[in-house]
Amino acid sequence: MSVDVQTALRSPKSYELARTALEVMEAHQVWPTVRNFELWVHYVAEKESPLAQEIDRLLAAGEAITETMGEALAAQFLPEAKLNGDILEAGDVLSKELQSVTAAIGAAQRSSEEYGQELAIASGRLTEDDANTVKSVVEDLTVATRKVQGENAVLEGQLAETTAELGRLRESLDQVRRDAMTDGLTNLANRKAFDEGLEHACEIADAAGEGMTLAIIDIDHFKGFNDAWGHQIGDQVLRYVASVIGRMGAHPRMAARYGGEEFAIIFPTEHGRTAKAVLEEIREEVSSRSLKRRSTNEDLGTITVSAGYAERIAGEGAMSLVERADAALYASKHAGRNRTTAAQPMAAVAAA
Ligand code: GH3
Ligand code: MG
Ligand code: MG
Repeated sequence: MSVDVQTALRSPKSYELARTALEVMEAHQVWPTVRNFELWVHYVAEKESPLAQEIDRLLAAGEAITETMGEALAAQFLPEAKLNGDILEAGDVLSKELQSVTAAIGAAQRSSEEYGQELAIASGRLTEDDANTVKSVVEDLTVATRKVQGENAVLEGQLAETTAELGRLRESLDQVRRDAMTDGLTNLANRKAFDEGLEHACEIADAAGEGMTLAIIDIDHFKGFNDAWGHQIGDQVLRYVASVIGRMGAHPRMAARYGGEEFAIIFPTEHGRTAKAVLEEIREEVSSRSLKRRSTNEDLGTITVSAGYAERIAGEGAMSLVERADAALYASKHAGRNRTTAAQPMAAVAAA
């Protein structure tokens, strides 16, 4: 039987479960990615499960649970596809719960302070009366109040500790969420973040009555490069191209790894330079650098990229915009690569 992570994370033991999972991950030096978090929550939630037993077996055999192994374990033992949505949602729920717990703790602290102040005022008033009995009652009350205040101080200390711990947990969850939106290889936004970002950018453009531009950049003949130099060096080239795009095209726009060797940039509005100028800068920078293999300094030659971009027409949907940018990219490829092409306006597309 597999554990429903959502249910587990919403149960009264949720914090403990999430915390334990993160502790175990840290102990085994496993990165807190969404996928890993899912895996290890299952691990701590049900120690008798086939997944947990397999992990225990691997650990006992002295194996490190690497990224690849984690993925293989997830693929073998966890129900597919529930992952991203579920964990992100659970993260949201937990995050909100943490906020309300923190607020409740703050309120409790304030009310206990107020209680102490009220008693002090009442004592002050009573001692002005002359009767000795009243005085002794007040003294008793004062002793009791001090005791309560002492206990409260201890409680407040504990609450402060818990609050800090909840804050740390929230940070870990925020990190998990950031990881889920980031491409692990290039550190640019991933496809999921891009899809959401593009929808959002379209809405903002419509609301503000402003234009926006979408560009897609694709590395030329990358298959050949991989075949010649191997995937690992290919990966480094992806990182290099991503860094050029990030440096020249990202801010204040969004740059993402759109697919294998394809990147996308959203330009919400023009900031001095046009999208075309930025794309040309990226293209020239990439093609001007002669690549070297780090370990041996061997010359890997140069690579080039092709780009296509489409200026959004007011009201145009994200899908149509992507299609037009893609068609412009295809035109760049068709015309010989290593170039930037503007998309046809919508009317021309419709008429073609
Ligand atoms: P074109 O100029 O027409 O774009 O040719 P291409 O070879 O770049 O395009 P194609 O679509 O035929 O091949 C894309 C290649 O990109 C295939 C694959 O080897 C490589 N690729 C995709 N994702 C990755 C990745 O994550 N790492 C590495 N190293 N290579 C990748
Ligand atoms: Mg390509
Ligand atoms: Mg491609």
